[in-house]
Amino acid sequence: MVTVKDKVFAPFISQEVLSQRIDELAETMNREYRGRNPLFVVVLNGAFMFASDLLKKVEVDCCVTFIRLASYEQTQSTGKVKQILGLGEPVQDREVVIIEDIVDTGLTMSQLISQLKEQGAASVEVATLLHKPEALKTPISLRYVGFEIENRFVVGYGLDYDGLGRNLDAVYVLAE
Ligand code: 5GP
Repeated sequence: MVTVKDKVFAPFISQEVLSQRIDELAETMNREYRGRNPLFVVVLNGAFMFASDLLKKVEVDCCVTFIRLASYEQTQSTGKVKQILGLGEPVQDREVVIIEDIVDTGLTMSQLISQLKEQGAASVEVATLLHKPEALKTPISLRYVGFEIENRFVVGYGLDYDGLGRNLDAVYVLAE
């Protein structure tokens, strides 16, 4: 068990299991993106550890860039839109693969996919380490999913609880 701030978390996905699954995802990507020079867009902060381990196993020619999503939300006619911050690389005609830590309601990811397509990306796929299918509120296509998990709060391996716990080397779940 580990304590992060004021809560206790139990081991959930071990380093070994993470590493094995990430190898499998990378193998699939190596097959599917050979010769396509993908642009990997890593969503900070949460995806940094997953992206680092995944991309070390990706052997195709590729570019890597990083974005953050603004924490404030602007209400627009379409609902709440998170703005992309720091997307330095033009995505026009690029084969984009978003690298994310976790897809929960899917709202963040569906907005991000739309925004990248609006900017002219040739294709946009998602690689997420974790996915909570029960929490999904919008239909979304996730091409690469590390683990489908139940609807519980997790930390570690990049994911935080109130800013803490990102440095844990495996995924932990809030103890009941
Ligand atoms: P969505 O728009 O899919 O609901 O939001 C996804 C974002 O919510 C993730 O990038 C992550 O920041 C946060 N999130 C969702 N579930 C969890 C969780 O179980 N643990 C942590 N640490 N963050 C989560």
